Amino acid sequence: MKKKLKVLFENLCCSVCKNGFEEESITIKRQEDGLLVINLSCTHCGKNFGVAFVGINDLDVKEPQIEPLEVQDGPEPITYDDVIDAHRFIRDLDEHWHEHLPKIN
Ligand SMILES: [Zn+2]
Repeated sequence: MKKKLKVLFENLCCSVCKNGFEEESITIKRQEDGLLVINLSCTHCGKNFGVAFVGINDLDVKEPQIEPLEVQDGPEPITYDDVIDAHRFIRDLDEHWHEHLPKIN
């Protein structure tokens, strides 16, 4: 199975060290009917490319649907501008400030 999976990554190389991927680069995390969840990492530099979902049909590997390879970060960190914006918002509040609060029945 891993040999077939390797074909998917044959034309790709690690974005960090430019080495190609090998069978050992692929870890099968989950195997279900028609779906494989694999983890791809570089055996040369250790860069982890995250999890990919691969649709399989009768053990013929179809086009992989690679999820975004980089692990998604959380929300954007609060910037200086955000603080200024919040400051202006609060400063400009008038006697109608309570209209900004969520309505509670
Ligand atoms: Zn690498």
